[in-house]
Amino acid sequence: MTTENQYSMQNPLTQYPTPEFPKQPQTAPGTVHKMQPAADHGETSYKGFGRMVGRKALITGADSGIGRAAAIAYAREGADIVLNYLPEEEADAQEVVALIEAEGRKAIAVPGDLKDEAFCNSLVEQAVKALGGLDVLVNVAGKQTAQKDIAELTTEQFDATFKTNVYAMFWLCKAALPHLPAGATIINTASIQAYQPSETLLDYAPTKSSIVAFTKALAKQVIGKGIRVNAVAPGPFWTPLQPSGGQPQEKIPEFGSETPMGRPGQPAECAPIYVLLATQESSYITGEVFGVTGGNPLP
Ligand code: NAD
Ligand code: MG
Repeated sequence: MTTENQYSMQNPLTQYPTPEFPKQPQTAPGTVHKMQPAADHGETSYKGFGRMVGRKALITGADSGIGRAAAIAYAREGADIVLNYLPEEEADAQEVVALIEAEGRKAIAVPGDLKDEAFCNSLVEQAVKALGGLDVLVNVAGKQTAQKDIAELTTEQFDATFKTNVYAMFWLCKAALPHLPAGATIINTASIQAYQPSETLLDYAPTKSSIVAFTKALAKQVIGKGIRVNAVAPGPFWTPLQPSGGQPQEKIPEFGSETPMGRPGQPAECAPIYVLLATQESSYITGEVFGVTGGNPLP
């Protein structure tokens, strides 16, 4: 993991680890501590510039990976944060809580399963209460489980992937919108899989296409209230999602090598776009999908 900050000019090809990586199977949902090499979530590399002072954000999947990087960046930019994650991820989440509090910001941990509509509603209510309002909803949580053959893809998995990736986003947006003031933003997490689906992700890839369409439709619906909705579409990122079943394990050693940059992205490299889309700097941007893909263009 590099300890250099993200702001000194350098060659992006050599900024972070490149394949080959060791195989490293984990049980889902996984932990950042089993990533070899360790991932960079911005713990020492992200520097804040006061771009989100006083903002109130709810971030799902905030314990690890891209959500952790967004949470660290938001805290360094001055936001208070409610973090959601699964109960078994408490240890990863508490590290993020400590990092946010080290910035002098509020960090409220609300573990729970987003596949449950009642929990999604209560998560938003708890966030509004704890933060005294809400002005950024960041949907990062996601489930990805590779299956090589449609015959092995169960209805239970198909359902759980759609519940986690699509229904939870719908439920959280629906519950949050009545609380969001003009100027508020929603940021969803799609994927390059929305456009270039892998043969092993028959359930996951269509959830990501759904997120793209949902984002564009909701953006048109709520812009009249001054609320913007955008999505980030990452390429391959070095997070627990992948070695804990997101990829067939034999693909982990070469993970990211298919990109023009020849390496996976580190979560810290995704955080700045989540910051931009949350702030007033992106005031004329809505209904947009931003690729962070190491050079594989989105359509
Ligand atoms: P990650 O494993 O670090 O984060 C995913 C998080 O989702 C978990 O930490 C967990 O807290 C949460 N989650 C899963 N099921 C949940 C449930 N039922 N209830 C509540 N929370 C649940 O991995 P990541 O790669 O940082 O994933 C973040 C997002 O990025 C996901 O939406 C993923 O689809 C997307 N994405 C990742 C990649 C990649 O290569 N890593 C590429 C494109 C898109
Ligand atoms: Mg996690």
